[in-house]
Amino acid sequence: MLKKITSTWHGFSTLQKILFIVGILLGFIAATLVVFELLSRVCPAYYPAVDVSCAELDEKYAPNGGEIPYFMQPQKQSLDEVLEDQIIYVPQEEIGTLNGITCGYYAYVSKDLPGPAKTYVSIHEAMHVLGEGSETQANLKAAKLAPFGMIVTVIHTALASFTRTPIQNWPCTLGRLWGTFKVYFLGNDWSGGDMTIF
Ligand SMILES: [Zn+2]
Repeated sequence: MLKKITSTWHGFSTLQKILFIVGILLGFIAATLVVFELLSRVCPAYYPAVDVSCAELDEKYAPNGGEIPYFMQPQKQSLDEVLEDQIIYVPQEEIGTLNGITCGYYAYVSKDLPGPAKTYVSIHEAMHVLGEGSETQANLKAAKLAPFGMIVTVIHTALASFTRTPIQNWPCTLGRLWGTFKVYFLGNDWSGGDMTIF
């Protein structure tokens, strides 16, 4: 049997060999994505419910208890102004498992993120503050300004998802991460609700 396979393989031209290997790889990737997709559909939303109150964050951390200066028009601010005045850094435990959250005028970002991820998430939140509603668009705009930060954020988010999850739930963690990836990078809308990362 093995001999037969080996001689068949040697009978292939180089092009056939390359096509064969590429086919196997593509098949493997497709199978992996199908598994991710199935997992993302069958897994319950087991993430701890995000219990973050914008009102409480505003009151505790924003200038004047979150009262917005009446003359401020968020959409007319520049990105630098938003980053300077409207992005507020808070301890991770204040925003649960989120990397950041936009609360209308102010946005809150975990100060415990790795440096480049903090930069990236800050820009992402600033895009929301400036009126960008789509997660994927906010991500693309932030990625143009902080591509390395995007990579660090993706890796950090994936690692954090696994480390805070019991090992028996890791298959579901994979499924949920795939669902998250589709929202943040492939333009999907949320269907689940509580999986916002930032
Ligand atoms: Zn966002």
